[in-house]
Amino acid sequence: MTGDTVVELTDVTKVYPGVRALDRVSLTVRYGELVAIVGPSGSGKSTMLHLIGTLDRPSTGRVRIDGHDVAALGDRQLSALRSTRIGFVFQQFHLAPNVPVRDNVADGLLYAGVPLRERRRRAEAALARVGLGHRLDHRPHELSGGERQRVAIARAVVGAPALLLADEPTGNLDSASGAGVLALLRDLHAAGTTIVVITHDLEVAAGLPRRVQMRDGRITADHRPVGVPA
Ligand code: ADP
Ligand code: MG
Repeated sequence: MTGDTVVELTDVTKVYPGVRALDRVSLTVRYGELVAIVGPSGSGKSTMLHLIGTLDRPSTGRVRIDGHDVAALGDRQLSALRSTRIGFVFQQFHLAPNVPVRDNVADGLLYAGVPLRERRRRAEAALARVGLGHRLDHRPHELSGGERQRVAIARAVVGAPALLLADEPTGNLDSASGAGVLALLRDLHAAGTTIVVITHDLEVAAGLPRRVQMRDGRITADHRPVGVPA
């Protein structure tokens, strides 16, 4: 593993009772990449993202994230790595209901030991970045689906994580809002954020620079832009 590698899966298998969700998967992602994971339902996409996000451990094989071998870390060290270095976005926004958007985002910094005033200041900056600087005091239920997902993205990036992971972030959105969320991910990528995004929308994936195709727990193709080394 070289210093420019943020994700390294080596021969990773994940077995659930009766199911081999991942079957000897190897994958390398460098800092600064934007990678789409595509494949049919049940092909192992979310399982792989969970392992990359250190939400789960492999059955066999090695997972290295941001310079750390996950097997060498205890649960507390792992949750520290996760909360400071990895941002998550899910299909179901997972925002706290009845909590103003500013504080939903500020809570993304709870584990960083940042004082409340500073958390709120950074949350406002993150919300401005996703185009919601005028919605700071709104509650999630007062926003559209696309706006809620933007809030979730602001919360995921407020701590400047090394890696942003998104599992079907447009899955609950109409196509116009979904396109807006994708455009936002591209903007974040252009500004230097490393992103791995699962999508079943092939049109969405086609517009992204690298596409990793999964089927039956295996990577079946890895399309990269011309000139980017394997
Ligand atoms: P995808 O995200 O591509 O739809 P998943 O990674 O969610 O696929 O699932 C891959 C396979 O692993 C599926 O057969 C699924 O049923 C199984 N699976 C996923 N999570 C669990 C779990 N926690 N317990 C048991 N089986 C699981
Ligand atoms: Mg999934």
